[in-house]
Amino acid sequence: MGKEPSSLRVIDAVLAAPPPRWATEQAVAVAARTFSVGAHSAIDLGSERDQTFMLLDGAGTRLTVMKVSNAAESADTLDMEMLGVQHALGVDPALTIAVPRTVAGAEHSVAPADHRAEWKADGSAHWVRMYDVLPGRARAEATSLDDRALVEWGATTARLARALRGFIHARAIRTMPWDVQHAATSRPMLPAIRDPDARRTVERMLDHYDRHIAPSWSAMRAQVVHGDLTIDNALIDDDGLITGIIDFGDMSHTAMLVDLASVLESMATGRQGDEIFRVARLVLDGYQRVTPLDSDELALVGHLWATRLAVGVAIASWRSAEGLEAAEFAERGIETTMSNLDHIMSAGWQRVEEELGAPASYGDSAALVERRQHALGPAMETLSYAEPIRMASASGAWMIDTEGRRYLDAYNNVPCVGHAHPRVVSATSRQSRVLNTNMRYLHGSAIALAERLVATCPPGLDTVFFVNSGSEANDLAWRLAKLATGNDGGLCTHFAYHGISDAIAPFSPETLPAEALAPSLIERWRPTDTYRRLHTDTSEFAAALARLARRGLAPAVTILDGVLQSDGVYDLDPAYVQALVRMTHDVGGLWIADEVQGGHGRTGEAMWSFERFGIEPDFVTLGKPMGNGHPVAAVITRRELAQRFADQTVFFSTFGGNQVSVAAAHAVLDVLRDERVLPRVQVAGNALRQAVREATADDDRVGDVRGMGLANAIELVTDRASAAPDAAMAAAVKDGLRQRGVLVGSTGPDRNILKVRPPLVFTEREVPVFVAALRATLHSLKF
Ligand code: PMP
Repeated sequence: MGKEPSSLRVIDAVLAAPPPRWATEQAVAVAARTFSVGAHSAIDLGSERDQTFMLLDGAGTRLTVMKVSNAAESADTLDMEMLGVQHALGVDPALTIAVPRTVAGAEHSVAPADHRAEWKADGSAHWVRMYDVLPGRARAEATSLDDRALVEWGATTARLARALRGFIHARAIRTMPWDVQHAATSRPMLPAIRDPDARRTVERMLDHYDRHIAPSWSAMRAQVVHGDLTIDNALIDDDGLITGIIDFGDMSHTAMLVDLASVLESMATGRQGDEIFRVARLVLDGYQRVTPLDSDELALVGHLWATRLAVGVAIASWRSAEGLEAAEFAERGIETTMSNLDHIMSAGWQRVEEELGAPASYGDSAALVERRQHALGPAMETLSYAEPIRMASASGAWMIDTEGRRYLDAYNNVPCVGHAHPRVVSATSRQSRVLNTNMRYLHGSAIALAERLVATCPPGLDTVFFVNSGSEANDLAWRLAKLATGNDGGLCTHFAYHGISDAIAPFSPETLPAEALAPSLIERWRPTDTYRRLHTDTSEFAAALARLARRGLAPAVTILDGVLQSDGVYDLDPAYVQALVRMTHDVGGLWIADEVQGGHGRTGEAMWSFERFGIEPDFVTLGKPMGNGHPVAAVITRRELAQRFADQTVFFSTFGGNQVSVAAAHAVLDVLRDERVLPRVQVAGNALRQAVREATADDDRVGDVRGMGLANAIELVTDRASAAPDAAMAAAVKDGLRQRGVLVGSTGPDRNILKVRPPLVFTEREVPVFVAALRATLHSLKF
């Protein structure tokens, strides 16, 4: 190849210019003249583009390190380095960075120009900088670093980048081929790669970069980064921990991830096979301890790393061909670099991304259904819909499947303030990085949450227990109630669901077969059917109490879901509920208001659904929406009921009250307040019911449209005159809505009721989408 490839001169003059070749005597003389360092001798430490000397005194003790820049290096660039170092140390003084000394006579100056001296010799001028000797070892092998050192290397990389985040300098906008951003500029070097297979691999990598990675560049987080925190640019102690960062010569404004590309290249050098991925993961762990990366960034890291390897091979080959580097040394480097590049590229990009922490894909859907069955067994609830939806992401009131299809979520009440609400997401992820432990240590957040919850309840409900699920909350309330009352019986509605634990399962007739509902400690009553005007008085409840009494049982509790989600969503008469509470108390029982469905603003009228009845429960149990999807639940009760428990035992739940769950719960309460969710729910619910009623006014199959806030039911019947439940029609409508991109559920003992129970971010704006899909579905099912 030609000796003067002009395109490369333009790319980087420093790269193309030969490094200085001073004699050690010259170094000693210059050190004395410029920095007043009285050295006796010097050792040439070499350097890729510059020349570095260790200056020694007469006893051979190391005095200082002197760096002679390449003749093509500009003063402005060195000043940028100096300002960058000063900036980084200002932000993070604990970083161990080599700082150039001031020239003789400018001892306390901070001006960058006072930290370099010009030396002219043999017709060329060089900048000279002088450094203290830092502790630690130089030029270690990356393979000598143990796992802890790898993690720490990642952390230091991120710390240095964080310390440089606010720094900018005109000279930082530069084009260097080994900054992955400018990978394409190494193309002219490809012919210098001697091994044809290697040349093809590097070219393929650059093609991949141009096609798939370069387009992402403009959206990447960018800043001035060190860009080359490799093992050669740091001193390390015996544990492999960095004691000094010594070269800022590659500092530039580029993607933040560029740091990782160079660090991974260095850290994985000399490692084989999949070990390089393990090494990369450890480095990334350290990096993310300081600067978390999002999934898109994690997916890019491997591509950037491989690009850096490819560029490294091109540059080393070219420099060797140009005689700028010893051929044998270059070949060895190229061989190890190629081995890692080959391994990454043969793994396939999807695997590389997953190896480095990007979300896994889990393969084909049909196979996944099989695997689900195999791994989770027959008791696991079946997937919704004949053709299951494979969800990929969700935001607000919308969910998106892996094919990119959007669904209006009118089903999920758990993400109450909306899927992936940023307040909850950031609260939990931030807290996860700081502390997540149990309630045996003093910490304010759970206490403050308990105080906030108590403040939402009637006086007397003053004590909070934190648990992890609605089932656990009800289980604990049941246990407290039995202890307090000495009774063993319980009452729930005919088709209730209150949880899965052994004690609570009998309170969940929705999920039990008839034979399992044979007389037990629990009796059921049919609540008012507001559509058919059935069970409007308390006789059903009285009969259930009487059945218990006949078996010699008194109730410890009556439990009621205030929106009767499983029974069919009924708006109960307050006087009716008040009477049930009285009747329960009269026989020594306590009242559990289960707010797992109706709480956290679902009705739009009040925070808790029991408030609409004007009752004072003995227990309020919370779950589902409390953490917007994060598992957190609670029991709120009266002090004397908690005391009975305390007299006998002690309450501790490993996860109950942990800081991350509590952060989610606080965030939900904050959003309910800030977004004025309750009034919005009322408006949205009214608009929804009105629009559905109007759209189905002439449809004999729609028997009833009812609800409270965003707990709504659309009841399907064979005809309005008979009001006979039509489960098949409900199933068909549910499927039809899904085909049209709207998700609802079905409920009620006859499975003929559509439950429309969206996240509380569902507004009037979504109503037309819902109604259009419903109208089209009902129309299509007519014929
Ligand atoms: N109570 C009610 C009213 C519920 O709807 C549910 C869950 N569907 C539970 C309790 C149980 O909650 P979890 O699934 O969190 O145990």
